[in-house]
Amino acid sequence: MPHLYESRKRILVTGGAGFLGSHLIDRLLAAGHEVICVDNLFTGTKRNIEHLHDHPRFEFTRHDVCFPLYVEVDEIYNLACPASPIHYQHDPVQTTKTSVHGAINMLGLAKRLRCRILQASTSEVYGDPEVHPQREDYWGRVNPIGPRSCYDEGKRCAETLFFDYHRQHGLPIKVARIFNTYGPRMHPADGRVVSNFIVQALQGEPITIYGDGSQTRSFCYVDDLIEGLIGLMASADGFTGPVNIGNPDEFTIKELADKVVGLIPTNAGIVRKPLPQDDPRHRRPDISLAREKLEWNPTVSLDEGLIPTIEHFRGIAAPQRGDLRPSTNGGSTRWANRH
Ligand code: NAD
Ligand code: UDP
Ligand code: UDP
Repeated sequence: MPHLYESRKRILVTGGAGFLGSHLIDRLLAAGHEVICVDNLFTGTKRNIEHLHDHPRFEFTRHDVCFPLYVEVDEIYNLACPASPIHYQHDPVQTTKTSVHGAINMLGLAKRLRCRILQASTSEVYGDPEVHPQREDYWGRVNPIGPRSCYDEGKRCAETLFFDYHRQHGLPIKVARIFNTYGPRMHPADGRVVSNFIVQALQGEPITIYGDGSQTRSFCYVDDLIEGLIGLMASADGFTGPVNIGNPDEFTIKELADKVVGLIPTNAGIVRKPLPQDDPRHRRPDISLAREKLEWNPTVSLDEGLIPTIEHFRGIAAPQRGDLRPSTNGGSTRWANRH
C-alpha cells in the first residue's frame, strides 16, 4: 500500500512492554509504522508484547533509559517509568533517575535526530490539588520530600527538561499529563485501585478501601488515552502542551468499589485500610485544551470500560491464582515473576 509506505515512520517507544506502551505499540503498528520498543522490564513484561514476536516491523531492545541510547528514529514516545505507587516507591532513587536521567538521554537523542519527542507526564504533577478540576495552568501542590515525591518531582523535573530543551535547542516537544488510566494488560499486582478491586472481587476477597473512600479519581479507558497520545504527537508544530489527557467523569473510590461489586458479585465485603500519606483527595482533568487543540474527547464510560478490563483479569486469573493477589498498602511489595 503506497499510501502507508509513504507515511511510514520509525518510532521509538520507551516503556513499551508496560501497560500503556504495549497498547500504543499495537496502535502504531496497525497504522503501518515501524516500532522499536525499549524497556528494562522493571514493571513491564514480555507477555504484553509476545504477540508481536514475529512482527516484521517490531523490534524489542532490553535497555535502561538511564543510560545513553543510540538508535535512528523519526519520533520518540517516552513512557519509561514505573507508574503505580507501589512500584515507584519500591526503589524511589531509581524512579527519580528514570524520570530525570531517562528524560535527559531521550531528549539528547531527539536533539541529535531533530525529531519530535512526547513525554508521558502525569496528573501527579498537580499533587494534592487545591484547584478542581485541574487545568494545565495550575502549578500544583506537591510535597517535595514525601513518599510520592520520587515520582511527582521526577516527572515535574522531566517536564522542566522538556521545556528547556524546547526553548534552548528548539526541540519539537509534546507533553501529555495523563490521568488515571485502566484497561486490559494492567498488572494484577501493581496495587492500582481498578486492578486491585477487580482481582479482589474475582478471588472472593474483601475489597480494600483506603481511608473512607470519599477521595475521587477520574478513570480513562486505555483506548481513549492512546488516541489522545497519538493525536498529540500529530498536533500542530507549535503546540507543545502540557495537555491533560484523561476522562473528566469523576467517581469516589467507594462508587468505584460499588460498580466493581455490581459486575462481579462477591459476599466478601469491604475492609478499610489507612489512607496512604499524601494521597490526593480529588482528581479530575479539565480537558478543554485537548478538546480544542487535538479535537480529542474520551468516548468510553467507566461502565463500558470495566467490562473488557474484567474479562482480561478473568482470563489470567484461573491458571495463576497464587500470583495474582493484589498488593495493598498494608502488605509488602510483591508481584508475579513475569519475565
Ligand atoms: P507500566 O509500569 O506498566 O509501564 C512502564 C514501563 O516502563 C514498564 O514496562 C517498565 O518496565 C518500563 N521502565 C521502567 N523504568 C525503566 C527504565 N529505567 N528503562 C527502561 N524502561 C523502564 O506503567 P504504565 O501505566 O504503562 O505507564 C506508562 C507511562 O505513563 C509512565 O511514564 C507513567 O508515569 C505514565 N502515566 C501512566 C498513568 C496510568 O494511569 N497508567 C497515569 C499517569 C502517567
Ligand atoms: N544521548 C543519547 N543518544 C543520542 C544523543 C545523546 O543517549 O543519540 C544522551 C547523551 O549521553 C547525553 C544526553 O543524551 O548524556 C544529553 O545529550 P545532550 O546532547 O543534550 O547533552 P551533552 O551530550 O552535550 O551533555
Ligand atoms: N485505593 C484504594 N484501595 C486500593 C488501591 C487504591 O482505596 O486497593 C485508593 C488510593 O488510596 C487512591 C485511589 O484509590 O485514593 C487511586 O489509587 P491508585 O493507586 O490507583 O492511583 P493514584 O493514587 O496514583 O491516583
